[in-house]
Amino acid sequence: MRNIFLLFIFYFLLFLSATGQSQKWQQSVKYTMVVDVDTLSNHVNGKQKIIYQNNSIDDLDKVYYHLYWNAFQPNSSMDSRSRELGKKVNNGRQDWDGRVRDRILNLKENEIGYQKIISLKMNGIPQPFKYHETILEVNLTKPILAKTAVVFEMEFESQIPLQVRRSGRDNPQTGVRYSMSQWYPKICEYDEEGWHPTPYVAREFYGVWGDFDVTINIDKSYKLGGTGVLINANQIGWGYDKPGTSLKPCSTSKRVWHFVGKNIHDFVWAADPDYKHITRTIKNGPALHVIYNDVPNNSANDTLWMNVADAAVKVLPFIEQHFGKYPYPQYSFIHGGDGGMEYPMATLISGPSLGTVFHEWMHSWYQMMLGTNEGKYSWMDEGFTSYAEDLVTKFYYGKASIMEYKDALINNPKNEDLKILINTLPEDHAGSYSSYFALIKSKLDEPMCTHADHYNTNFGYSINSYSKGEVFMEQLGYIVGAAVRDKILIRYYNDYKFKHPNDYDFIRVAEKASGIQLDWYQEYWVHSTKTIDYAIDSLWEENGQSKIRIKRVGLMPMPIDLQLNFKDGTNEMHLIPMNEMFAAKLPEDKNQKTITEDEWIWTRPTYTLTFNKRLTELVKAEIDPSKRMADVDRKNNQIELNW
Ligand SMILES: [Zn+2]
Repeated sequence: MRNIFLLFIFYFLLFLSATGQSQKWQQSVKYTMVVDVDTLSNHVNGKQKIIYQNNSIDDLDKVYYHLYWNAFQPNSSMDSRSRELGKKVNNGRQDWDGRVRDRILNLKENEIGYQKIISLKMNGIPQPFKYHETILEVNLTKPILAKTAVVFEMEFESQIPLQVRRSGRDNPQTGVRYSMSQWYPKICEYDEEGWHPTPYVAREFYGVWGDFDVTINIDKSYKLGGTGVLINANQIGWGYDKPGTSLKPCSTSKRVWHFVGKNIHDFVWAADPDYKHITRTIKNGPALHVIYNDVPNNSANDTLWMNVADAAVKVLPFIEQHFGKYPYPQYSFIHGGDGGMEYPMATLISGPSLGTVFHEWMHSWYQMMLGTNEGKYSWMDEGFTSYAEDLVTKFYYGKASIMEYKDALINNPKNEDLKILINTLPEDHAGSYSSYFALIKSKLDEPMCTHADHYNTNFGYSINSYSKGEVFMEQLGYIVGAAVRDKILIRYYNDYKFKHPNDYDFIRVAEKASGIQLDWYQEYWVHSTKTIDYAIDSLWEENGQSKIRIKRVGLMPMPIDLQLNFKDGTNEMHLIPMNEMFAAKLPEDKNQKTITEDEWIWTRPTYTLTFNKRLTELVKAEIDPSKRMADVDRKNNQIELNW
């Protein structure tokens, strides 16, 4: 019996490696939480049970929890960090997050946030624990053996902070009473890189996938939106049972809201007595909920929130076609927070801006399903989301992002800087290229692999994570071809959804889908701050042949698209692969004559190309006419000839 079993395992492993599927293990959790909210004192008392499945190959002698709200206390790590960044000035502005500033320092006793653990047991046995501000360290009385499960039971008590950043009460900006994100003790993720007990100082999250069953007892005047699906909709009414219905009467002072979400790595909810509720049902798709604060006698406000629901419905087929299917039964856009912040099956947005709506909607793909460790790979989360957001926005409005700049020039025709900028930006993702070039000019660039919490400046963090990450993806299309890049994105979704991919995983998918070696691209673009600059060096005729020499000026090597335009109105594209690619992209435009040249060995500073026409026939030569290559000096990319 045993031998047959081992043989089975052997063939099973052989099968796994033959299919090429990722064999990553990952932990799983099942949360059951019952919480009671006191809306007078702003306190939450909760009971939490976690069934924790250790799928790793290691025995674990400790676990960690996040206690995010302990950050909202004067002199906390988050407060110190914000005030430290506030001392730096970039372009005349203090570098701190304008929402945080020194606000934590000024919180009063009844305005601070905290999370206190009353008791913690593992399999019924009390466990010793130690606070490290926003991280709870639990040194277990007995290890959790590999491939086994344990049950943690916890009682906790929290004070909801006055809203400073993302979560809290009585938001000064939106008036929303409770934005309940990062609100419960959340077990940290353990993966093949080990534990990730990242202290909360500002940004970025990471969590364990699992199921959440959350019961909230709160004053009956409150209305709620949250992650998951409300399973006692019949008791609540208010559009959760049927569109347009009102809140059902309740004989007790508090009402019970019971949400369940499956295969998610976090849980958010928000509450306000004045909330309004719009729903949309999508055929064969999720139910959409839009929950927002009423502005009395302001129907324009209702219309704006109605637009949120309709826009989200309109863009979903486009999103699913390009980025993969939305698998959950529901999604909610909830008024709250500060700006926009993503959570599983829901987002908190501070207003009905469609830009924010598209961005947060896309986070359902790049974070909720492709849950990278945001702290370590913030560019794979914010950058990929921003990349998708740009295309969703273009689909919705029918306008590429370069049009924003061109429209600005129409209104401001004498702006020479704007004219130069427009000539350096590609059609799509124009804003991110523009921000990337500004970052290079500022000299505040850092490698994109910097941990989100550890960038020297907020400016460097945000442009690296959002813009340089977005440029990474558009520029990948330049290297492998746009159509192949689109296939990479679908394959990335199919191979790595719900698996916590990292940058190596993404690059491997891109290599498999393109047949092109890309490790050099990761090394230069992600792990260094080297920049790209290519130039047309010289042109001449020799033995009846025309020659062009191109020069690598910057330190980062790239493949080159060189377009030649001739007097007779024709043009041709010359593709010069870089030797470390070991392949070339296919012609991108079937209607254009395209010639694939010999590879450029990157160590050689110049490359000479021969073409079969008299030099006097040439009127223009241009490196990368699509402007997808983030060349930091475009002035030397083209030459125009008047013979
Ligand atoms: Zn984002």
